[in-house]
Amino acid sequence: PHVSAVVERLCATVPDYPEPGIVFKDLTPVFADGPALKLVVDSIVAKFAGKFDAVAGVEARGFLLAAAAAYATGTGVITIRKAGKLPRDVYAESYALEYGEATLELHQEDVPAGTRVLILDDVLATGGTLGAAATLLERTGAVVAGIGVVLEIDALPGRENLPGREIVSLLHV
Ligand code: 5GP
Repeated sequence: PHVSAVVERLCATVPDYPEPGIVFKDLTPVFADGPALKLVVDSIVAKFAGKFDAVAGVEARGFLLAAAAAYATGTGVITIRKAGKLPRDVYAESYALEYGEATLELHQEDVPAGTRVLILDDVLATGGTLGAAATLLERTGAVVAGIGVVLEIDALPGRENLPGREIVSLLHV
């Protein structure tokens, strides 16, 4: 089966979560399914083959994808975390969410300059999260090789908010 059909079958749609009016796409059933997880990770990695030296995951669901993708390709994982979780000196980027505001942080010294980094997360909605992640990596001197997500919400301006980025989405809804 095609990866988009697998994701579509397993993805759960939750109306009014986490707030009224938000339709939340829950991909935990994709992560919980062995063949689906493997297909998803392999599909994203294949699109960026040879173009990255490390994989960054955005806390928390991005970590699942990033660890699997890094292991599959023999690269390392970079953790982009919510504020206050990293113990050494960080760069911080705040951004607007579909619901609220958030800050992401990255250790200043985790990524050697010039490292080509593939950024992974589960969902691209408004693009604020992945934009902040890309900015953080670039502040450390890394090169953003691309962005991979399992699902992209086409009604939101995620792509417009990530100009010039190579973005791979396995399913558009
Ligand atoms: P954005 O910053 O693009 O608006 O939102 C993307 C971030 O919020 C991602 O980290 C993603 O995990 C989370 N997010 C936003 N909307 C959804 C959704 O409908 N489903 C899931 N699983 N995550 C979402």
